[in-house]
Formats: sequence, C-alpha cells, structure tokens
Amino acid sequence: MALIVQKFGGTSVGTVERIQHVAEHALAAQAQGHQIIVVVSAMSGETNRLVQLATQINPIPYSREYDMLIASGEQIAVGLVSLAINTLAEKKGLIKAGESRSRPLLGHQIGIRTDSVFSKARIEGIDTRLLRDELALGHIPVVAGFQGVDIENNITTLGRGGSDTSAVAIAAAIQADDCEIYTDVDGIYTTDPRMYAGARKISRISYDEMMELASLGAKVLQIRSVELAAKHGVPLHVRSSFSPVEGTRVVSREQLGDHLEKVVVSGVTSDASQVKFTLRGIQDRKGLLADIFGSLSKNAIDVDIIVQDVASNGNLSLSFTVSHTDALKAKKVLESLTPRDLSTVEILEEPGLVKISIVGVGMQNHPGVATKMFSLLSEAGISIKLVTTSEIKISCLIEGTHAKAAVATLHQGFELDRTE
Ligand code: ASP
Ligand code: MG
Repeated sequence: MALIVQKFGGTSVGTVERIQHVAEHALAAQAQGHQIIVVVSAMSGETNRLVQLATQINPIPYSREYDMLIASGEQIAVGLVSLAINTLAEKKGLIKAGESRSRPLLGHQIGIRTDSVFSKARIEGIDTRLLRDELALGHIPVVAGFQGVDIENNITTLGRGGSDTSAVAIAAAIQADDCEIYTDVDGIYTTDPRMYAGARKISRISYDEMMELASLGAKVLQIRSVELAAKHGVPLHVRSSFSPVEGTRVVSREQLGDHLEKVVVSGVTSDASQVKFTLRGIQDRKGLLADIFGSLSKNAIDVDIIVQDVASNGNLSLSFTVSHTDALKAKKVLESLTPRDLSTVEILEEPGLVKISIVGVGMQNHPGVATKMFSLLSEAGISIKLVTTSEIKISCLIEGTHAKAAVATLHQGFELDRTE
C-alpha cells in the first residue's frame, strides 16, 4: 500500500465530466489498496476570470483582497470534486447515502501556514493531523491547492500555478510515496509542442533541469514545487489525466545515473513574458545598484537578466528584465526612486521580448555550447539583446516575433528532434 498525492490541474477539473473522471480515477487508485490525497487547482480559466474582475476595479489591486478573491476558484473545485467522489462511491455501493468517502478541505482547514507575502506566499508548515485522521477513516481528502493562511489569518496564495507547490508540500509533510501531477499534457517535453511540432517527451529528468525548465517558462510545473520536491526528495510523476501512459519522472541526478551526462541539451524553452527596462544616464555612486534592486525586491518584483554598462562620459546604463505581470509595478518603483539618482535618467521600456533558453546538465562537461547557440541563432537571422548563463543553462533575450523560429533552430541544432 502506498500513500499517493494526486494533483489535478485546471483542465483536469475543467468541466463536470472531467471532475467525474477525476473521482473515478481517485477511487480506482484507492481500490488498488492505496491511500489517496487529492489536491486540485481551480477549473481552467477561473483564476484568470477572477484576476480580470479585480483588475477592472484596480490595475494594482490591494493584495489581501486580491488573494482572498483569487483563492476562491479552488474552493469551487474541491467542493465539486469531493461531491463527485462521494456521489460515485455511493453509486458503486462503497458507501450508503449520507456517508462519505471524501472530504473537501481548504488550505486553512489543514493548517497550510504561509508567510504574508500575498500572491507569492511561501509555505512555512503544514499540520498533517487532520489529513491523517481522514486517511485513517478510509476517506480521500480533497485539498484546495494554491492557498494558505498567514499568521494573521489572512488567506494567501502561492503564485500562479501554485497548486503544484501545495501538492508537493503536502507530499513532503506527510511523507507520501509518490506525488502525481495530472495535467493536460502527458509529460515534460523537450520544448513546448505548440511552439514546435518536433518536441519529444522526456521520460526522466533531474530536479535541477526541471527547475531550470520551470523557471524558464515551461508552464507544466511551478518552479517552487520542483525546488521543494528536490529539497525533500519527493518523487514527481508528471502525467496526463486523459491517458494512462507513463509521463515524465522528475528525480535526483543520482537516480538518473550518468547516461544523461551524454545528452548536452535536454530542453529548449521560451518565456514570452519579458519586459526589458533600460535606465540611461545614471550617475554612479556607492550602493546605487543595491538601492535600485532593493526597492524592486521590497515590492516583490523578481528581476531576471541584469546588464550594467559604463558609457564614455562615465555615466552608467543599466538594463534588466522583469515578467510582464510586474512591469507596471516596476515602472512605478523606478519612478519613485530618489530624484538625486534618477532625475536625469531616461527610463526605456521594451515590451514584447522573449527569453529563449537551452537547458542540460550535460553542458557542464561540453565546451562550446554557448558558441553553438549564438551561431545557430545568427544563422537564422535572429539578433540577441541580452545573454545570461548558469551552470546548466544559457538564455538569450530576443524579439518576440522570432520566438518560434528560434525554438525550431535550437531544437534541431542540438539534436532534440524525434528520433523515430
Ligand atoms: N488556480 C491557480 C492558477 O491558475 C493555481 C494553479 O492552477 O495551480 O494559477
Ligand atoms: Mg499548473
């Protein structure tokens, strides 16, 4: 008997029929002798709808209200999924009318405690007692993903895609044997199949690579969920809720063995959500960069690529990118910086950029990967605006209109195309 956390994403609970399918799936796994905890996202499109409502009232909504609002999609989903499980269990004769086989639970009910950083809250602890009690009764707890509660009893949310992180955190806290992430694709691909038709499913990948892919815009898993899984050694299995085929296992590098080291590049990603800011004509002084980036981070704005340049007159020029969802906030922060530093500074905003990246643990042992990437892009007539690298990835910022072409040329160039 195994203890399995099954997380179902928005499309997997997107309609009543699909919710009934989830119920079927969870009960079938339980019938095989496993203990099952279900974690769900909001029905697809629901969170976006809620975000829309809020931003119609205020483009930068008050954060407490915003989190309260956007957490509500998951409440609908757990209500429906648990209802479907109980209804089906009764139909199958597993329970009598009025009894239950499942229990719907919100984040605060099972003590998913977080910090108070609204919309990007981090889980600080989970009280597993209620979950264990429910499991002991033979129930399938159905838990709302994406949400928690802070020390002041405010509802918080974990960032878009945060139900993955809820699932992994629950799996870690309760020491589950497996954490299955059910989604609308059948695994992790070498690139987004909608961007490039030659994409291939990866059967096993390391946490490190998955973290890079997730942080680079592969939308299948929230990055924090992978970080957390790596930290606690939670085995992840990303798979489709519509088909029984094996998905992608995300495991440690040790578990992968050394065959992966032979693969130089495991995946190509494109992140379409970049806005580049350039500040020109800054007079340098001690601590200036720390002040600028300190103000941005105080406002919970994640800065990505940073490039600093000294012009011939000695003034500084600074470029950096943020996600388009933070662009408006970032601009306000920049404009509010002390006039002494920025009064004569030009703030240029360049939207519509895409960050294209290649990822692979193998590139640590293979020199010349960056050079190859630059020449592939240049042969395709694509110019590069900014570059950044880490041990296992290289990213280039390019014009958004070239995204598809760039993915295709890199996918082919690094021999990731289908082999069959
Ligand atoms: N419903 C939330 C979102 O759309 C969380 C999730 O789907 O994981 O971001
Ligand atoms: Mg998701």
